[in-house]
Amino acid sequence: MLLTKDLSYKHSETFSIEDINIEIKKGEIVSLIGPNGSGKSTMLRIISNLLKPMGGAVLLDGNEIQTLSRKGIAKKLAMLPQIQNYNLDLTVRELVEFGRNPHKGWFQSLNEEDEQIIDWALEVTSLQSYEYRFLQSLSGGERQRAWIAMAIAQRPKVLLLDEPTTYLDIAHQLEVMELVQMLNERFDMTIVIVLHDINQAAQHSDRIIVLKDGQIHYNGNAQTVICKQMFQEIFEIDVEIYHDGNKPFFKPIRRQEKFIFSTK
Ligand code: ADP
Ligand code: MG
Repeated sequence: MLLTKDLSYKHSETFSIEDINIEIKKGEIVSLIGPNGSGKSTMLRIISNLLKPMGGAVLLDGNEIQTLSRKGIAKKLAMLPQIQNYNLDLTVRELVEFGRNPHKGWFQSLNEEDEQIIDWALEVTSLQSYEYRFLQSLSGGERQRAWIAMAIAQRPKVLLLDEPTTYLDIAHQLEVMELVQMLNERFDMTIVIVLHDINQAAQHSDRIIVLKDGQIHYNGNAQTVICKQMFQEIFEIDVEIYHDGNKPFFKPIRRQEKFIFSTK
């Protein structure tokens, strides 16, 4: 479905990503984890053709992404960036309408089918009763769902989500994760999602890719990736690993001997 071949990109002398080879299969949910500044957003931006790689290529359904038009990409792949512009003076429905743009020609207005797809996107995200509300009037969780509704109105096969849960409380984080899982199961969307909550990544994804300093350090299912060594190597913390069925989860061990704050 989605393949990167020897991707490289250099932001500055101090940060580059190099030789990134990943393969995302149709129907997978893949979590991307790693410390702040490890290159997760850069990776998603290259995969969605917002940044041109300096080396290598991204293949979407076998086609090199740079040979596809912007609209051609958007019909197959939707990307939800890390920080959306929350000051947009739009209603929920108006935002979701933008999701139909890739399917329309210049000056072509929305037709019956577009309206049905917009209704569908609002229904899937439980936003029917919010369609005429302005984005500024929504809670964080509702707003995030509105952006997801816009993304899925594109009818993408692949959905890229950059930290969709970061600023939400736990209940709304769960709501987003359940929505993502539902999009995957019911509508067969392939998902690549950046998460900071590693337990959530372990719980909800088929595969976890761990980035540090612009390189892939681990790539596999939760059982193989979630281990003490990974936390030491990537995050420099000690953890205990537990299991709930076949899903691992972790708890940090308190670093008494390395206490970094003055107690005075
Ligand atoms: P993550 O999403 O994992 O936190 P990013 O991909 O946003 O990491 O950033 C990786 C590194 O690249 C960081 O050190 C960041 O400061 C740097 N970086 C990101 N965007 C730019 C840019 N437009 N220009 C220069 N450096 C950038
Ligand atoms: Mg980021």
